[in-house]
Amino acid sequence: MERSFKKEAEALKLGSGDTFHGEGILAVTKALLQSGVSYVGGYQGAPVSHLLDVMVDAEDLLSDLGVHVETCTNEASAAAMLGASISYPLRGAVTWKSVVGTNVAADALSNLASPGVVGGAMIIIGEDYGEGASIIQERSYAFALKCSMWLLDPRPDLPTIVNTVEQGFELSEASNTPVMLELRIRACHVSGSFPAKDNRRGLYSGQNRIAGPPRHEYIRLSHPPSTYIHEKQKVDQRLPAAQAFIRERKLNEVIAGEVDDVGIVVLGGLYNGVIRALSRLGLADLFGNPRLPIYVLNVAYPLIPEEVKSFCAEKRAVLVVEEGNPEYVEQQINTELRRADIQTRVLGKGLLPRAGEYNSEPLINGLAGFIAETRPMGIDADAIAARVKEMLAHKAGALTALGDLPPRPPNFCTGCPERPVFSAIKLVQREIGPTHISADIGCHSFATLPPFSLGNSILGYGMSLASAAAVGPNFSRRPIAVMGDGGFWHNGLVSGVASSLFNQGDGVLIVMQNGYTSATGQQYLPTSRTTRSGAPTGMSIEKTLRAFGVKWLRTVHTYGVSTMVKTLKEAMRTAERGLKVIIADGECMLARQRRIRAEEAEKLKRGERVVRARYGVDDEICTGDHSCIRLSGCPSLTVKPSPDPLRTDPVASVVETCVGCGLCGEVAHAAVLCPSFYRAEVIRNPNRWDRALHRLRRTIIGWFAGRAEVAA
Ligand code: SF4
Ligand code: SF4
Repeated sequence: MERSFKKEAEALKLGSGDTFHGEGILAVTKALLQSGVSYVGGYQGAPVSHLLDVMVDAEDLLSDLGVHVETCTNEASAAAMLGASISYPLRGAVTWKSVVGTNVAADALSNLASPGVVGGAMIIIGEDYGEGASIIQERSYAFALKCSMWLLDPRPDLPTIVNTVEQGFELSEASNTPVMLELRIRACHVSGSFPAKDNRRGLYSGQNRIAGPPRHEYIRLSHPPSTYIHEKQKVDQRLPAAQAFIRERKLNEVIAGEVDDVGIVVLGGLYNGVIRALSRLGLADLFGNPRLPIYVLNVAYPLIPEEVKSFCAEKRAVLVVEEGNPEYVEQQINTELRRADIQTRVLGKGLLPRAGEYNSEPLINGLAGFIAETRPMGIDADAIAARVKEMLAHKAGALTALGDLPPRPPNFCTGCPERPVFSAIKLVQREIGPTHISADIGCHSFATLPPFSLGNSILGYGMSLASAAAVGPNFSRRPIAVMGDGGFWHNGLVSGVASSLFNQGDGVLIVMQNGYTSATGQQYLPTSRTTRSGAPTGMSIEKTLRAFGVKWLRTVHTYGVSTMVKTLKEAMRTAERGLKVIIADGECMLARQRRIRAEEAEKLKRGERVVRARYGVDDEICTGDHSCIRLSGCPSLTVKPSPDPLRTDPVASVVETCVGCGLCGEVAHAAVLCPSFYRAEVIRNPNRWDRALHRLRRTIIGWFAGRAEVAA
């Protein structure tokens, strides 16, 4: 990982008497240490990458506490880590991005939830749902329901989050069940403070290891006949134990209001949005005190029937605010109330949208609709409706004033090593025609968007080759699968490569070897240059593929577009059957720039010579057809007005952000475009030779320029 979290790691050392200030996800990290965890692991992904990144940078503190940190190769291995808590009183936590990560971990989770745990086990899931999400829109709630694991969904408020983590471990132990802590994007990034406590050592840890023989109790294995007993334990023992704990510790909250004939039931993570919407409707003050009573479910599953009944019993109606589909909580509340013959109306979906994030507008509309429908005593429903109408009229006016905004699809970074590969694919397709391209998860998925628009399917992380397995035998051209090195180690090696070799598949796989899991923040992977401690990893994709039996294997430097074009054509046309793999080698430019900039700053401080390459376009030669822009897509390659007053078309131009990767020049050469690109070197702290060369060049240029003027 090229970015350092040393500053954040310092905050983890705070103790009793200190006040912690920071973001929600860092507060969770601190709460884990205050809870006495013995191990932590996970697989990075937004919005919880920070948790593991900070833990990795806090290595000294964690080794003092004896906490083992594991950067897992995928979510399944992270979930399996929790197996340590099945038989031993070890508290542990793992983290990943959900719902995709939970899908990958599903097998291990089922086998963990079946025997249950004796040490507190917590899964911190980054619920990546809504407007800023980068994955498919599904809810993790289903996993909690199907596995009988408890789902904590704390109100986005640092003391509540920290309390939920600490109590979550106790809940896990009291009910012998792993718990999931759901953090939405906004909860991860909410800022605040809480009174810190001292960090605790786990009962057992690297500093105090478990002595004696390992435990062998058959009931702790998820294997028949134990599994039949586990099923009954989940319902008869663990669920009632959990509900008793949640009730006694008051993990859920009731926020009183002025009116008592209606109320709101909200999942903890959505509380801040609801309060903000109430405040805009004039139904809450600026300090967040609502006029309507609110039952906050900091534990989204299981529900506590006594609490639900007690909150709803004397009310005419309640509104359940539950984002996403289906409405699990609303259905359960309906069931509990009908079973108890309580006739409170339960409203939710319908007033609130069935799909999509509950941000400001849906919440304002939903709450106003609830007020209009139920007309609570003491609230002027007509005034609220008029207020909403006025607010939304402003929005319509603002939209008209702004006009159509240009779309801004995500794109590769300037100088990204993956961009040249897609330039090469475009050039190859010009010659041999288009073929099926199975895309994957990672930065390279940006190639599915303009200007490349290359990609026909995405089936999951590391699944591109596997997803082309049935395309190849049914398609006139060999399909191309594109996979990152992160995806390769996450799943692609076994699901894709081994399966293709075993089934004698005949396709092309491009592995983008950029050295990191780049899209999630440049975390290290098994084939990074080094491990997090700086030691060489000693692993190689090339050697691994050879060992698996891949015969047709080429490694090509990504910026060499001509070589990449030639290699791709060969892979597509060769009569040799079987899997053909091209390792596209080029370090993630974002990580490289972070490293180089720091190194260069040091050199400059010492007065040493520093050279940077920059590219440019000669205005007079540029023909203005902009093929270079369409083929490279680099954001640093743009257009500007032509300096020639007789030409109206803009010319191509390279702006200041260019990192000198050379792709635009390479593409111009490989695609036989106009020769307008030039490479320049910007030299800082030049030496004597640089100065002498500069003087010589100036003299020669001046001489030619002089002759040209005379000739003119
Ligand atoms: S993070 Fe790295 S790999 Fe991803 S787009 Fe940027 S430069 Fe390319
Ligand atoms: S050299 Fe060209 S492609 Fe590379 S960063 Fe600069 S403008 Fe972009």
